[in-house]
Amino acid sequence: MGVTAIYDGIIIATGALRLKQHRPFSILFVDHRTMRRLSVRTSPVHGRGVFALSDLVSGELLLEYKGLHLSWREAQRLHARSNAEDSHTFLFGLDDGSVIDGAQGGNSAHWFNHSCAPNCEAEQDGVRVFIRAIRSIEKGQELFIDYRLTVDGWRTAAVRRMYACRCLTEACRGTMLSGRN
Ligand SMILES: [Zn+2]
Repeated sequence: MGVTAIYDGIIIATGALRLKQHRPFSILFVDHRTMRRLSVRTSPVHGRGVFALSDLVSGELLLEYKGLHLSWREAQRLHARSNAEDSHTFLFGLDDGSVIDGAQGGNSAHWFNHSCAPNCEAEQDGVRVFIRAIRSIEKGQELFIDYRLTVDGWRTAAVRRMYACRCLTEACRGTMLSGRN
């Protein structure tokens, strides 16, 4: 079993510690309605990221974190079986303990990169999760959320390396992990 990390309700389960990167893992199902305002392209921060195609207002609801609704046990079973190299998985944990698996029927929401000074936030509404702008965002800017990962298990050196932050903001705490555990 690899690392399971939970951030602000979002859980990332990885198949193995040898995964070095926070790497998107699945084919996108593009939501064309959303994609008029947002685009997914190569990020200067890491891999691919989500970018504003027009100016966005603080408080604006941007998109839903879509995917298959699973129990935590089902999600663990599913991802324990998958190929470690390809299974960097984005599961959004809900407060009832179930998860949304963005790998299955997911959308561009799981391309959001992490920043220690984010311009967006994830919020839960019932069993649905939405990403909202928390600052005004100019056309062309990349959108970020703060992952605030909490790791299920020891924060070993390997875990800390795996979740090192590259956001380069003044507020950078050097890690995508939260300060909480
Ligand atoms: Zn940072």
